[in-house]
Amino acid sequence: MKTLLVILCVATVAYADERCESMGGTCQLDSLACVNGHYRSGLCSGGADRRCCVPSIYCGDVQVITRAQWEARDPISKSTMPTPVDLSFIHHTAGNSCYNIDDCCAQMRSIQNYHMNDNGWNDIGYSFLIGEDGNAYEGRGWGVEGAHTSGYNDVSHGMSFMGTYMSRLPNTAAMDACYDLLQCGKDEGFITRFGHCIQGHRDAGTTSCPGDALYNDMQSWPEYC
Ligand SMILES: [Zn+2]
Repeated sequence: MKTLLVILCVATVAYADERCESMGGTCQLDSLACVNGHYRSGLCSGGADRRCCVPSIYCGDVQVITRAQWEARDPISKSTMPTPVDLSFIHHTAGNSCYNIDDCCAQMRSIQNYHMNDNGWNDIGYSFLIGEDGNAYEGRGWGVEGAHTSGYNDVSHGMSFMGTYMSRLPNTAAMDACYDLLQCGKDEGFITRFGHCIQGHRDAGTTSCPGDALYNDMQSWPEYC
């Protein structure tokens, strides 16, 4: 009986830590420093103080939460597009804002489910999403055809701010993250360094996206065209 209990416990622990380990993290007491990483909740067995230390990954100056880290579903299919591209579209999700990694990851999973289950798309539509926690969230990623701006999905990236920006702007952390992400795209060779053009979704179709406040602000962005 004792043996059986031990085996059951070991099995439970291994299973419960699996979500943390599958994103390259380590379960540990959060009184310990999470070196070169950040803590995530709800991914480890044991008490609330045993949390997942996940490596922080950066694209230039912005932290990118990878697909593994937000527990994305695999795409049904994926088409690459030639890079560098000279066009980027700005969107908003027209949903809720999020202000910490755990909440933003939950949003990412829900947006991906909506795009795949309800819209019937191959994957989450956008290239990247941006949270008001100041992080970028990997959608389809660089150089992958999207489902964000009809007619331009194979020649542009689509960056979407998580939230609704009809009457207010994304906070400074999110605006900075968007700028840094585009800068990284240039530095990594996915976006043209010269002649790069930024547009709002409504410039390419009938939609209120990316929201009145954000769209009005974009008019003064140096690369708006
Ligand atoms: Zn849009």
